[in-house]
Amino acid sequence: MPLYDFECNACGARFEAQTPAGAQPPACDTCASPDTRRVFSTFALWKINKTPGERRRNEAERRDFKERKREEHRREQRKGDA
Ligand SMILES: [Zn+2]
Repeated sequence: MPLYDFECNACGARFEAQTPAGAQPPACDTCASPDTRRVFSTFALWKINKTPGERRRNEAERRDFKERKREEHRREQRKGDA
């Protein structure tokens, strides 16, 4: 069974528990409240946070590429005129 991180909505405690996929979150380790939710690992958060920056960089690269292509095209047209 996979090991997941959970956070208690009642007391804020964090705990790990093994639950089958699709099962209800387990009760809190500290206060036994059933009001818990699954939290994603720091690694997963790091990956999510990293994505927008990468997307921006990819867009900038794509824009550079398009500019370069346009410049090449202009140069070739000029060559044709001469
Ligand atoms: Zn709790």
